[in-house]
Amino acid sequence: MKIMISACLAGENCKYNGGNNRHEKVLALMSENEVITVCPEQMGGLPTPRVPSEIKDGVVTTKDGRNVDAAFRAGAARCLEIARRWQPDLIVLQSRSPSCGVKQRYDGSFSGKLVEEPGVTAQLLMENGFRCVDVEDLE
Ligand code: SF4
Repeated sequence: MKIMISACLAGENCKYNGGNNRHEKVLALMSENEVITVCPEQMGGLPTPRVPSEIKDGVVTTKDGRNVDAAFRAGAARCLEIARRWQPDLIVLQSRSPSCGVKQRYDGSFSGKLVEEPGVTAQLLMENGFRCVDVEDLE
């Protein structure tokens, strides 16, 4: 099976704070499948580490109030381009991220509150027919 994966789940230090979300189930998938990793925020040109962002009123905004929507959407578009070319059977993404969250993301208030909506990359990939799952929902 061909699987596209959030790069932080594979142990790449691309998370906003310079760390990763290395996940044992993902590492197991990587050993048994054909895998490609993507980090939409880095691919949109954002540095690591970076100020955390959330989606507020449809616009991706950093905790210190900067509009980074264009970078997030550029990274999402780049991921879609790769998915269209590579045609993964499954896309496994980091839960609750403003880019990668599939079922949920934070609500834009930086208070830890969640909304039942996807991040920008997950949304774009799903709108284009790709099968996405949160890492937390891996069987
Ligand atoms: S954008 Fe996605 S892949 Fe990159 S660090 Fe955030 S959750 Fe991980």
